[in-house]
Amino acid sequence: MFPLRQRITLTVYLTVLLALMVVIGAWMTTQLTRARVASLNDLIDASAEVRRYRTRVDQMQFASFRFIASNHESAVDRVSVSYGDTRASLQRCIETRCAGEPANARMRGLLEHLDGFHKTFLEAVQQRQAIEATLSGRFAELLAGLHARLAASDRLGDSNGGDALNSFRSHLQDIESSAEAFWSAGGPSSASSPDFEQANRVLERIADAAPQSWRASAESDLEELRQLYRQLLQRSRGHQFLVNVVMAGEAHEMQMLAELLEEELSAEIAAARDVIDRQLRAFALGLIALLVLGSVLVFLVGRAMANSVSGQIRRLSRIFSELAAGSEAPIRFDSVHRDEIGELARAAERFREENIENHQLLDRYRALNEELESKVVQRTRALASSNERLEHLANTDRLTGVCNRRALDGALDAEVERCRRYEHSLALLFLDLDHFKQVNDVHGHAVGDKVLQQFVVELRSLLRDSDVLGRWGGEEFIVMCPETASQDAVHLAERIRSHVADLDFPIAGRVTVSIGVADFRPGDSIEDLVDRADQALYRAKLQGRNRLVAA
Ligand code: GH3
Ligand code: MG
Ligand code: MG
Repeated sequence: MFPLRQRITLTVYLTVLLALMVVIGAWMTTQLTRARVASLNDLIDASAEVRRYRTRVDQMQFASFRFIASNHESAVDRVSVSYGDTRASLQRCIETRCAGEPANARMRGLLEHLDGFHKTFLEAVQQRQAIEATLSGRFAELLAGLHARLAASDRLGDSNGGDALNSFRSHLQDIESSAEAFWSAGGPSSASSPDFEQANRVLERIADAAPQSWRASAESDLEELRQLYRQLLQRSRGHQFLVNVVMAGEAHEMQMLAELLEEELSAEIAAARDVIDRQLRAFALGLIALLVLGSVLVFLVGRAMANSVSGQIRRLSRIFSELAAGSEAPIRFDSVHRDEIGELARAAERFREENIENHQLLDRYRALNEELESKVVQRTRALASSNERLEHLANTDRLTGVCNRRALDGALDAEVERCRRYEHSLALLFLDLDHFKQVNDVHGHAVGDKVLQQFVVELRSLLRDSDVLGRWGGEEFIVMCPETASQDAVHLAERIRSHVADLDFPIAGRVTVSIGVADFRPGDSIEDLVDRADQALYRAKLQGRNRLVAA
């Protein structure tokens, strides 16, 4: 299997390729369609131009025939303007090749016929102007001369001549009206053409009665008129030919060609539209097919990649979950996976191996820690008990086991403070063994020690739990009695004294004790209280020993 990076790159590459193909396809089609639309627009322009051409040709024809029919001067200018405009736009269309070569060839034909029509029209105009000039010039002059001669011949007074004159006038009128018919459609008909032979014969009849000079000039004028008429008739026929045959032919050709061209252009426009339609449809279909196929391909490739990755990742997550749960089993992962996920699996295996070592280290550390903790507990206990022992030793008299001076001071301190604060009663007994020095001297220190120990045992048996017994020093002891009135203390002291006095100590025999009793008074310090008890003791000694004295 390819590495993950290559698989993702391949999928992305395929997607980009597809997008690129779609974009290139769209761009090419746009270019192609744009070119075709441009040529279609050219065809539509050319078609419009041909339609305009036909209209202008109609206008030009109309103006030309109007001029020919009525000799309307302004019509010549209109034809020229129309011709100029039509020629210019046609020329432009040909030069820009707006409709392709076959249509261009037809347009050149149109141009030739247009030129031919206009040239012929100008020729016809010239001819008509020349004929008109002759008719209004020499022709009219000759007719006027003959009329004038006829007017003069009225005075000839000939009876036949009157008829002949009228007949000749009628001939002259025929000639005049026949000349006017030059411009009617088809020209003067041969039926209505003037009879110059007859006119000549009538003139001869008139001339018989007229002088020789009148006759000669009249005959010469009539002859000239006849020649001129023939000439004019000839020209007018030529003019009619130009108008009716050449111009009409050119106009017809122009119309025919234009009509043909328009039809061809319409067909070409329809074909071009059809091509564009087909091209766009083909592009749309191609694009859809490309998109569908490409999407399916990208989807399939992408899914195959995703499946291969997700399967491996699921297996890896299971492996990591097992590792997290503390599994130490070797990791099994297909060795064929040489991709990043395979690397991850191998890293997980290395992690597992490291983890096993870490676990072992952790177990050893835990065991050591437990051992250490139990040792700490043991040591702490030993320390506490030795502290207790030390505390006991610090507060206990070694010989007798009762409170030593230090402990006694502490107890007195606390009890005196209580009495001060709560106004409790407190009594103090100061005890001293009588003539104890003699016991030592007589029986030795050891016996003295034994006496002290037994004395304490006996003393304890007489005291309450709340009473505090302590050794003040040497053979002197103090009993502190909380919540005890002085009377009760005196009774206690007496009991002690009598009890001790009745005892028979081993070796030492009889030993007595003197006791001073004092009770706490408001404002007393410890020293005050002890001092009073000591004073009382002192007095008991003075009074003979083995007795008690209350302060
Ligand atoms: P008094 O009746 O006036 O008290 O006379 P006394 O001899 O008892 O008093 P004194 O102060 O003269 O003597 C006290 C003696 O107690 C002196 C000393 O040797 C003895 N003594 C003090 N402490 C100890 C002790 O711990 N052991 C023994 N065996 N003797 C002690
Ligand atoms: Mg003493
Ligand atoms: Mg003594």
